[in-house]
Amino acid sequence: MTQTEIMNQTEDYVLHTYNRFPVVLDRGDGVRLRDCDGKEYLDFMSGIGVHALGYHFPGYDEALIAQIGKLTHSSNLYFHLPLKEASEKYVHSTGMAKAFFTNSGTEAIEGALKAARKYSYQKYGAGRSEIISMKDSFHGRTAFAVTVTGNEHYQEPFRPLVGGVKYADYNDLESVKALLTDKTCCIILETLQGEGGIFPAEPAFLKGIRELCDEKDLVLILDEVQCGMGRTGAMWAYEHYGVRPDIVCSAKALGCGIPVGAFALNGKLADASLAPGDHGTTYGGNPFAMAAVSKVFDLFAEHDIVGHVNELAPYLEQKLNDLKAAHPCIREQRGMGLMRGLQLDDSVQASSVASRALEKGLLVITAGHNVLRLLPPLVITAADVDEAVSILDLCFL
Ligand SMILES: *Cc1c(COP(=O)(O)O)cnc(C)c1O
Repeated sequence: MTQTEIMNQTEDYVLHTYNRFPVVLDRGDGVRLRDCDGKEYLDFMSGIGVHALGYHFPGYDEALIAQIGKLTHSSNLYFHLPLKEASEKYVHSTGMAKAFFTNSGTEAIEGALKAARKYSYQKYGAGRSEIISMKDSFHGRTAFAVTVTGNEHYQEPFRPLVGGVKYADYNDLESVKALLTDKTCCIILETLQGEGGIFPAEPAFLKGIRELCDEKDLVLILDEVQCGMGRTGAMWAYEHYGVRPDIVCSAKALGCGIPVGAFALNGKLADASLAPGDHGTTYGGNPFAMAAVSKVFDLFAEHDIVGHVNELAPYLEQKLNDLKAAHPCIREQRGMGLMRGLQLDDSVQASSVASRALEKGLLVITAGHNVLRLLPPLVITAADVDEAVSILDLCFL
């Protein structure tokens, strides 16, 4: 079958909820993907930040295959060793007390928001249930997650949404304070906004939010689904700020290529929120996914992946600044670690740049309002950066 035939016949059967790039991917190796015709692509989007270790990182496949040979699913009605190992490593890594595993980022958000409301309900009774989230945020597509996603476009056709959610301006502490009432129970935000266009939280903003939450006993949820797992040059982006959330949400790179998400709660929340019967999942925390998560944490430690991000990120940043200097249509270059955005002006569409890059063998994506987004595997080399930037250099014409 030709790529065109595969694409057309896929569109015949799969609901059209995505405008896909016109390519049929076949396999990955290292930081490269190949399409059905054997054309190679340098991957600077890693399946939207999932493939932090690239493809077939030594030891990863072997761990998954070994688990397939034993047991892939058991339900949460039984114990299994991979769950013990993955939860221990995830909890230690986040600095939290307990974890709950899901199959996706949006489910992690759902669970975290339920835990926040349950905590407040148990301590203060019904009605103290309002949640403050941020405009231009992204937290997922299920009903509660889309409600806290401050983007009218994602919400409008699906009203009525979950009640009791208000929207503040990101990096504007006063706008958060203005929404506080005696019914507020929770503040949720991304430590670094991803889909919204690669906007890091300002230190004073995040510290101010933490203080506010301490003062009023509000639950602070940090969504690190995209910016966590070493992406910003710390295992968790909040480490850069010296701030800890009450609940952190994870997914994307947590399993480095298999569907898994999680949220971790600090001791206060773990002791007084979700209890037996309050929340559950059939697949979440299954032996297969847990074997992947457990192996991912081992590989991150053994290969000092976070250290590598800190070595490479300044080089990528410098190269992108050079690119910006050469192309006036690039207004700004921002981000943290290997999570970077190029803000373009109106003279060029980020989506057109991404399409031209694809033709030239480089995968990049877009975000927010005309932002070109780079989320390379965390294992890229300086030579990969050189290659990616030299391709991008040809795409702004
Ligand atoms: C991708 C993403 C989600 C949703 O994750 P899914 O696995 O697609 O449900 C939530 N929050 C952030 C910050 C994300 O980037």
